[in-house]
Amino acid sequence: MKCVLVTGGAGFLGSHLCDRLIESGNYVICLDNFFTGSKENIQHLVGNPNFELEERDIIWPYMKGVDEIYNLACPASPVHYQYDPIKTINTSVFGAVNMLELAKGVKAKLLQGSTSEVYGDPVKHPQTEEYWGNVNPIGLRSCYDEGKRCAETLCMDYHRQAGVVVKIIRIFNTYGPRMAQNDGRVVSNFIVNALQGKDIEIYGDGTQTRSFQYVDDLIDGMIRMMATEDNFTGPVNLGNPGEFTMLELANLVLELTGSKSRIVFGTLPEDDPRKRRPDITLARMKLSWQPMIPLRDGLVKTIDYFKSQL
Ligand code: NAD
Ligand code: UDP
Repeated sequence: MKCVLVTGGAGFLGSHLCDRLIESGNYVICLDNFFTGSKENIQHLVGNPNFELEERDIIWPYMKGVDEIYNLACPASPVHYQYDPIKTINTSVFGAVNMLELAKGVKAKLLQGSTSEVYGDPVKHPQTEEYWGNVNPIGLRSCYDEGKRCAETLCMDYHRQAGVVVKIIRIFNTYGPRMAQNDGRVVSNFIVNALQGKDIEIYGDGTQTRSFQYVDDLIDGMIRMMATEDNFTGPVNLGNPGEFTMLELANLVLELTGSKSRIVFGTLPEDDPRKRRPDITLARMKLSWQPMIPLRDGLVKTIDYFKSQL
């Protein structure tokens, strides 16, 4: 039985990962400060003899005998990561240092949950892992983007300098059950408002694109990445190449919910990327992985989840 640490384990992605790891016979430690995560997401695991909750902040050093670390602790929605930007960058940078020190100390493997945001507002489309990105280092999104870029740097330096086994995944927009109603990201905002008959607000003219991946596909890719040979560090893109405009997404949500909500247009936030789509050739090759759940099917499951919550 492996002992696996999941930081951010009470969040949207982390809680699904904890479930999957426990199902496959691991002992799981979930470390979280509950900034954006919730006790509800992991309530069903509390009391399981193979589950342990560590309520603490990742910016503080942590030592524990673990075999694998999935480092996911960090607010991910622009609304939440811009709420306290200094804390956000500290979480990414000091969090990565603390987890890499732990990995080095106990010889654990570390998987870093990085992001497609490292590509910023990309000039190259679709994005391959070789692309270095187009990130504004001083804008409102930088606390997140640059924090995550620095965490990738730290992973590679600990790998080269201290021999730590690291795996970097760049996660593209992911959605599904357990997103918080107030998460602030586009899929949950559109669905919650459609179900409540409120206006759906598109920021800008709605021509910007994103590529949305269903949570189960991502978790599968994460676990496959952790299992790759020790010298394979990535980074590897994990995302669904299906690319949609925000206007297309809004119309699809209206169709699937049967809602009569109106679509309204608001201000486009600063540095909002114009387009985003992963090239997943590397993930296909190294992980034999590709997403299986198309947007329409994933949205139906997510809508059912929010219906049960509202
Ligand atoms: P989330 O906000 O639901 O989860 C983040 C979790 O980290 C929460 O449980 C939160 O309480 C915890 N956390 C935040 N700061 C912490 C700290 N200082 N100490 C301890 N715990 C802390 O978001 P998510 O969508 O589940 O994202 C999880 C990870 O995946 C993040 O690192 C995010 O950057 C990355 N990611 C997510 C997406 C996506 O589309 N969901 C895309 C790219 C990258
Ligand atoms: N967006 C929107 N309405 C919302 C929330 C977001 O139109 O209620 C837009 C946002 O401006 C961006 C896209 O949807 O262009 C994706 O936003 P999200 O915050 O989900 O993710 P990110 O910008 O980090 O990819």
